[in-house]
Amino acid sequence: QAKRQGRNHYQFYSSEISERFHASVTLRNELQHVLELGALKLFYQPIVRCGDRKIVGCEALLRWQREDGSFVSPAEFIPLAEDTGQIIPISSWVLKQACEDGLKLRELGDFTMAVNLSAVQFNRANFIESLTHTLNLSGFPAKNLHLELTESVLMDDSNRAISLLEALRKRHFSISIDDFGTGFSSLSYLKMLPVDTLKIDRTFIKDVFSGEHDAAITQSIIGMAQQLQLSVTAEGVETLEQAEFVEAAGCQYMQGFYFARPMPIEEIMAMVKQQENK
Ligand code: C2E
Ligand code: MG
Ligand code: MG
Ligand code: MG
Repeated sequence: QAKRQGRNHYQFYSSEISERFHASVTLRNELQHVLELGALKLFYQPIVRCGDRKIVGCEALLRWQREDGSFVSPAEFIPLAEDTGQIIPISSWVLKQACEDGLKLRELGDFTMAVNLSAVQFNRANFIESLTHTLNLSGFPAKNLHLELTESVLMDDSNRAISLLEALRKRHFSISIDDFGTGFSSLSYLKMLPVDTLKIDRTFIKDVFSGEHDAAITQSIIGMAQQLQLSVTAEGVETLEQAEFVEAAGCQYMQGFYFARPMPIEEIMAMVKQQENK
């Protein structure tokens, strides 16, 4: 009896694993054609200034809609695309599209556009050339483009990262450290990095009133950013109370569902127009 149960157990797990494996193979195959199919879209989430809470820019966030209408999360398909190398054409498309849409937004005012960079993209030998090329073709100003990188990408090969960031700075690009606080970069290292903005990871904001240390961590990051003369953005602001907390702590920018979810370009344009008319 025990033996049989054991075997059933084994079969259960093995079919679950093979199902998952199958699903990921299917995703990988679909991913190969995602650009030709026009299945990728960029959504834009507003970033507001603390105090008057006006929209001053946005972050481009990738969406993949499958043929059955379902959405695959970037957290799921970006690692896959990094694995297969598809991330390279996908990232080029993202940059081009974000610059094109960014230009439309800039007809309405001096808005910034934040784009997430993948480790694979950042680590390519021709990264700066291809970035500069796309930007020049589009006509979008470098200083309005915020390049978001995570701590782990920057720590991977820190000497190379520092020289790349310096080269980007010379070309007037702005650099943000995304999900700040979740990596393990030391403060002495941070001091050497020529970056412009820290984006406080949303896990701290989420628990700012419930977690034991999250309020203190959030305040410390904001204080440190001020000392280092960096801008700071709070990610994942979902409630008025959280917005008031980070504002009181001296934060400069906020982003989160409390203000707006990521949306198509037409919708964020309409939101910005409405704000400008007030
Ligand atoms: P991220 O860069 O940290 O982006 C912020 C994520 O938090 C987005 O998830 C956004 O929808 C979500 N978010 C914003 N406000 C709130 C909030 O108030 N509450 C909650 N619960 N979530 C909020 P999304 O769009 O699913 O993207 C996940 C991650 O995928 C991004 O994290 C980024 O690392 C990556 N990603 C997205 N687009 C791209 C891209 O074009 N290229 C690359 N390389 N990575 C991308
Ligand atoms: Mg980001
Ligand atoms: Mg983030
Ligand atoms: Mg993230």
